[in-house]
Amino acid sequence: MLIRSIGTDSNRLAHTGTLWYDPNQPRIPSAALSAPDADLLASILASGAAVRVRITVACENRANGESANVIGEIVGHEKPGEIVLLGAHLDSWDLGRGALDDAAGCGVVIEAARQIAQLPARPRRTIRVVLYANEENGQSGSEAYASTHATELEFHAAALEMDSGTGRPTAFSWRAAPSTLPLLAQMTDLLRALSIAPSTEEGEFGADVANLLETGVPLLNLWQDLTTYFDYHHTANDTFDKIVPRDLDKVTAATAVIAWCMADAPSAIERVPQDHRKLE
Ligand SMILES: [Zn+2]
Repeated sequence: MLIRSIGTDSNRLAHTGTLWYDPNQPRIPSAALSAPDADLLASILASGAAVRVRITVACENRANGESANVIGEIVGHEKPGEIVLLGAHLDSWDLGRGALDDAAGCGVVIEAARQIAQLPARPRRTIRVVLYANEENGQSGSEAYASTHATELEFHAAALEMDSGTGRPTAFSWRAAPSTLPLLAQMTDLLRALSIAPSTEEGEFGADVANLLETGVPLLNLWQDLTTYFDYHHTANDTFDKIVPRDLDKVTAATAVIAWCMADAPSAIERVPQDHRKLE
C-alpha cells in the first residue's frame, strides 16, 4: 500500500484498513470486486447469460497480536553509525499471498543488500534492511521502528522503501538537502543505464519511511511501472505467478546502486531543511 493523502479531517477519522469511517456516523458495510473478477463478470454479461451474484462479507476486527520488525545490516567501514535504510513490509492483505504487496519489495531489498555484501569492499556507511511488521493495518511496525531507534534517527543518511510490486523501475526522485544534489545527480547518471530517468515530481514515498522525514531524514523514491499493480493488489490474485523476474531484477539492480552510492558517498549527507520536513 502506498501512503495516501487523507485530507485535513484525518485526525477525527478512525482507521480501519483501507476504509476511513467518521466515528459519528454508522459504519456502512463495504465490499469491492477485484479487476479480474469484474472482467469475468462483464464478459459473462456480454454473452447475454443471466448472472446472479452472491457476496459473503465475513470481515471482522480482532485484537492486536504481537509481531516484530526484522532487521539486518551491512556495517559500514568508515561511518558505521550512519545508516542508509532500505525498507519493505512483511505483512500482506489476507486474501492473497502478498507476492506483489509486499513480498516483491522484501525480496528486492534483501537481494540488493546480499549483492552489496558480496562485493570485495564494504560501503562507508551502514546499510540497514528493515522488514516492517505491520504496514497494511496502521503502520505500527514503522511507528515501533521510529520510537525504538529514536536516538539513531539523526544519523540516518537516507531511507528508501520498496513497496510497488514487480513493475520495472522508471524514475528516481527524492526529498533531500540542496547540498546532496550533486551526489543524487551522479546516481541518476548511473541509473540511466537501467532506463531510469530523474523525476520532476517527488512521487509518493514509502508509507513506512515517510514518518522519518519529520526528523530530517532524506527520503528516496524509486518509481516503478504500476500499470498492472492495482489489478491484483489487496486481492486473492496477488500471487507469485504475477512476478516478472526480469523487471524485478532491474528494480533490484537499481536499489543496489542507490544503496551503495548513498552508503559509500565520501561527503557528509545533510538533513532535510526544517521547512521541507512535511509531505504535501
Ligand atoms: Zn504494500
